[in-house]
Amino acid sequence: MAWFKKTRKPIAAPAKEKPSRVPEGLWVKCPDCAQAIYNKDLAANMHVCPKCAHHFRIGAAERLRLLFDGEWTEYDRDLVSTDPLRFTDTKPYKTRLKAGIEATGMKDAVIVASGTIDGIETMVAAMEYSFIGGSMGVVVGEKITRAIERGIDRGTPVIIVCCSGGARMMEGARSLMQMAKISGALARLDRARLPYIAVLTDPTTGGVTASFAMLGDLNLAEPKAQIGFAGPRVIEQTIRQKLPEGFQRSEFLLEKGMLDLVVDRRELKAVIASALRFMGARAQPAPVAPAVAEPAPEPAPQV
Ligand SMILES: [Zn+2]
Repeated sequence: MAWFKKTRKPIAAPAKEKPSRVPEGLWVKCPDCAQAIYNKDLAANMHVCPKCAHHFRIGAAERLRLLFDGEWTEYDRDLVSTDPLRFTDTKPYKTRLKAGIEATGMKDAVIVASGTIDGIETMVAAMEYSFIGGSMGVVVGEKITRAIERGIDRGTPVIIVCCSGGARMMEGARSLMQMAKISGALARLDRARLPYIAVLTDPTTGGVTASFAMLGDLNLAEPKAQIGFAGPRVIEQTIRQKLPEGFQRSEFLLEKGMLDLVVDRRELKAVIASALRFMGARAQPAPVAPAVAEPAPEPAPQV
């Protein structure tokens, strides 16, 4: 009797509760097509199921690895939340922060970095879902704002890879203020005529959707990503209607005009690079060297 229950439960739980976490181990079961995939094959395929193209959730560092040509420079790595409200729900917020830091090795839920994408110098902010649900608190807001301002100073495009449950309620109104702060910075980026691309990945919800995730010159999403403001259950209970099939998924939002493109992760870098070029961004000609070399031939004709 006991073994029967045991075999059923572990199968049901990972499929429904956390469909896109990549578990430790040699083999991973795809939550979509139920195929067992060799972990190394999955990693080599950018964590996309080779059989059904299910997009597994990936971390912020992996995201940067997939986007940048090579090395990148990280900024504001040590900014950390001070727990301004001394907030406690089922656990003190301080304990949650500590657990997040220990689990991810990051100080908060975003990495901001600069590097080149197909030769184009770009500022990228990538959110980390495994740090308190990728929630946006003061630190995330500040780091993203600084990244945008750095983009303005250097004249480079900005990309934000969104993966978030929304504003971090343990920081109350301060977390909500980040929505306005980042949106303001993006407006300045726009005035500087620099491109901003929002990449929406599974999931992008709450205050993140309600601010920078939807403000891109181009709003891209990965296939079947959950994108919305409130969760479907809350909406169903409020409007007392059954929601349509595929509600809050990328493809549905694309059809309704909320997104510009749904892009397979394996083509994401190429699509972003060509979009940046279309919007006027140019690849740096071999780093620094030409800038030094150029002034030299100039005096020659004058002599
Ligand atoms: Zn699959």
